[in-house]
Amino acid sequence: MICLICRQAEIVPGSTSIPFERGEFRLLVNHVPARICPVCGEAILEEMTAIRLLSLVEGTLQDGLMDEVRDFE
Ligand SMILES: [Zn+2]
Repeated sequence: MICLICRQAEIVPGSTSIPFERGEFRLLVNHVPARICPVCGEAILEEMTAIRLLSLVEGTLQDGLMDEVRDFE
C-alpha cells in the first residue's frame, strides 16, 4: 500500500510513539504497532490498535495520573 500522504513510498510495519493531551493530562504511549511511511513518517493504526490505545488512555486518566509515559500493551 502506497502512503496516502506523500504518495512516495510503501508503508511498512513498525511501531511509533503517540502523544495525548487533554487539559493538564499528558500521556506518551511508546511502541504502538503501526504501519509507517519511511518517507514522511505518517503512522497508520489498525482499528483494534486504536481501540486498545484509547482504553489505555482512559485507564491512565482514571488512575489520576497527569504526566505519564506508557508502553503499549
Ligand atoms: Zn508518506
